[in-house]
Amino acid sequence: MNIGTKLLHIGNEVDKMTGAVVPPVHYASTYKQTKATDIGPYEYSRGQNPTREILEESIASLENGSHGFAFSSGMAAISSVFMLFAPGDHIVACADIYGGAYRALTGLFNRFDIEVTFVDTTDLSNIEKAIQNNTKAVYLETPSNPLLKITDLKGAAQIARDNNLLSIIDNTFMSPLLQRPVDLGIDIVVHSATKFLAGHSDVLAGLAVVNDEKLAKRLKFVQTSFGAVLGPQDCWLTLRGIKTLKARMKEQEESAIKIAEWLSEDSRVAEVFYPGLPSHPGREIHLEQADGFGAVLGFKVKNKNKALKVMENVKIPVLAVSLGAVESIISYPTTMSHGSVPDDVRKGLGIEDNLIRLSVGLEDVNDLIEDLDENLE
Ligand SMILES: *Cc1c(COP(=O)(O)O)cnc(C)c1O
Repeated sequence: MNIGTKLLHIGNEVDKMTGAVVPPVHYASTYKQTKATDIGPYEYSRGQNPTREILEESIASLENGSHGFAFSSGMAAISSVFMLFAPGDHIVACADIYGGAYRALTGLFNRFDIEVTFVDTTDLSNIEKAIQNNTKAVYLETPSNPLLKITDLKGAAQIARDNNLLSIIDNTFMSPLLQRPVDLGIDIVVHSATKFLAGHSDVLAGLAVVNDEKLAKRLKFVQTSFGAVLGPQDCWLTLRGIKTLKARMKEQEESAIKIAEWLSEDSRVAEVFYPGLPSHPGREIHLEQADGFGAVLGFKVKNKNKALKVMENVKIPVLAVSLGAVESIISYPTTMSHGSVPDDVRKGLGIEDNLIRLSVGLEDVNDLIEDLDENLE
């Protein structure tokens, strides 16, 4: 089955009990057992909930993995994955990761003696050089946030395998529609389902997928023990969002391509970051591992004041944190997605004060371009 069909028909399908075309929301926290010694498939909702199970099956199938896990937010999914590690372990992470993941690694997991080294993973040799005796994992994002840098996933997964490390990727920007890292040898895929998967700025959700029984058991242990599970109503909203992922992503991507091209020809714009542009240095590798470019782009204007003016004055995109929604969202990485990254580190990564991130929504693209045009003036 192709992914366009799977989005509608795996897990997320007709209710077997009633024939309802939409899965029910199971609010029960606990389930009656017939025998005290022989527990049925559902025991207590932290361990498993039928609505959550549908979402977990759906994401596992979409990512071509064996097991899916739903968490209360993208960060809960990411942090739960980091809980697979123990004091003394070391992780090699890509330098421009999501600010929240940076914060969790450098402010929280470091307190449990889990070490991290950040490297520019666009050059795979940097990963190899950073591997130590205690390294346990490679953590990636491609395209990265917010500069849309591309990492060779097959190559990185191979390095991880050769060195007995887990490979982990945050696939939020692409969604399984455009990039399926398990097929490229990646061990764990995480998502902020808050973004493209749910897609409507009305739910916080996180997902993780693995393709290995043993690893699934370990992550299930963390999920049940730590307990940052996604509630049934939010599972249902995420399932509803997933059904329209293809229609949304394709339309938003088409507009993003037009906007990126338009921006890249405009002299008021200093630089545009989007893998769909022919000038993007990672474009070739990206095309080998993904089926599209997504709907998020970055661009730099003349200076900070100009950036603030554009973001605060545009009429259509919402000035907000987040991305991947039906409405366009314009954001300022400096204070928003990367506000938790120290200034010098952030600037060192090229996330400067004149950088704007735009997540292109479903509005008419000509209106978006006109709005940007007026405010770049
Ligand atoms: C938003 C985001 C997260 C965090 O997800 P939440 O659902 O907000 O907790 C992680 N990674 C990326 C790439 C994101 O954009």
